[in-house]
Amino acid sequence: SGARVRRARNKKLPQYLERGVDVKFSDVAGLGKIREELEEIVKFFTHGEMYRRRGVKIPGGILLCGPPGVGKTLLAKAVAGEAGVNFFSISASQFVEIYVGVGASRVRALYQEARENAPSVVFIDELDAVGRERGLIKGSGGQERDATLNQLLVCLDGFEGKGEVITIASTNRPDILDPALVRPGRFDRKIYIPKPGLIGRIEILKVHARKKPMAPDLDYMAVASMTDGMVGAELANIVEVAAINMMRDGRPEITTDDLLQAAQIEERGMLDRKERSPEMWKQVAINEAAMAVVAVNFPDLRNIEFVTIAPRAGRELGYVRMKMDHVKFKEGMLSRQSLLDHITVQLAPRAADELWYGKDQLSTIWAETADNARSAARTLVLGGLSEKHYGLSNFWVADRINDIDSEALQILHMCYGRAKEILERNRNLMDAVVDILVEKKSLQKEEFFNLVKLHGSLQPMPPSV
Ligand code: ADP
Repeated sequence: SGARVRRARNKKLPQYLERGVDVKFSDVAGLGKIREELEEIVKFFTHGEMYRRRGVKIPGGILLCGPPGVGKTLLAKAVAGEAGVNFFSISASQFVEIYVGVGASRVRALYQEARENAPSVVFIDELDAVGRERGLIKGSGGQERDATLNQLLVCLDGFEGKGEVITIASTNRPDILDPALVRPGRFDRKIYIPKPGLIGRIEILKVHARKKPMAPDLDYMAVASMTDGMVGAELANIVEVAAINMMRDGRPEITTDDLLQAAQIEERGMLDRKERSPEMWKQVAINEAAMAVVAVNFPDLRNIEFVTIAPRAGRELGYVRMKMDHVKFKEGMLSRQSLLDHITVQLAPRAADELWYGKDQLSTIWAETADNARSAARTLVLGGLSEKHYGLSNFWVADRINDIDSEALQILHMCYGRAKEILERNRNLMDAVVDILVEKKSLQKEEFFNLVKLHGSLQPMPPSV
């Protein structure tokens, strides 16, 4: 009727509503056990009455914690999609305005819309942008944020336990949130979403491959092992880039190679065409070749995937990708010998710079890897893994700082000598690798190992310490 039409026209269109959100849990891969927790949230919507009758409190807010790109937004959408409710979203950085009162009024408007269109999920991205502990930022910017945060607390309390509007927020920094935000009835549920492991990465790649023409013999395992440390957003990108590659070549299917190439591009960022002089290309090539040539001598580090000197936006000069046991490495479970080998590899660029350019022309190209070596050497001594203090945990002995540093220095000297020795023994291999790097900018695993076979001199190393 006319009256209803008029009313509909007068009603403001919801500003924060995302229409057509059609994400399901099956679109989010590699979740493992987390999925059960999220299914429960869906039940708060679909079986709310049951919870209320049994006196089970429905949380007002759920915090999804984890690094960018692991699928927190996607998950929030999937909760709304599975429950069949409306999805409202805002990025908390949009709350933070210089004008006092603007942020708070946005929060009010957001929740008003969500309530008018309940049941609904309110998703707040980057909660930490507004949820940092109050009073930490001085001046009017701080005041404004405090006002916004207070308003958010009021809105959260307004829905406590009702289950018609559930707020899901994402953050990478749950540790800095204002304590008031994580009190019971507010964001009292935290779900951690880690970066995907090997199997998770395979599953994510497969989800994104669903609607694409993939070669039947596609080796997902190979791609997943090349993408250690990557998150869902990056893996999704890899599939897209691989598809573009296929289209450009006019092929009907995406191959393993398309994906591997795309992975490499993703890994290093897009090539930026920064100009380097021929001398600079060569110096960077020596720097990277040195790491690869030294690394190939050590059992834990010799698993080299590729070497590149292609400059990528904002990143280091070049890159040697070694496939090592990242779990061991991150958990600090490397053996003493592999730590020493690691230090030797990290000192290789410095050693090469000295061998190829001489003391007078040393650059600072090796500064970053030398830093890595330094901190690994300290770890070794502090952990009681060095010779002098073997088994004695220096961890506890604060007054031995000088001792520790001098022993770390000894280790650095020893490893440096070793790096130099290996490089001198492998000058032919170095020259061959450098030549190809300068010409082609990168070197794949097979090419590299062919050169090692042809020119390398990998004598078994004597035990080092
Ligand atoms: P976050 O919110 O954690 O920063 P997003 O949810 O925005 O990450 O992820 C961006 C995109 O990356 C998603 O839209 C999706 O295409 C892809 N993605 C991320 N994680 C996953 C996953 N676990 N499964 C499938 N795709 C994912």
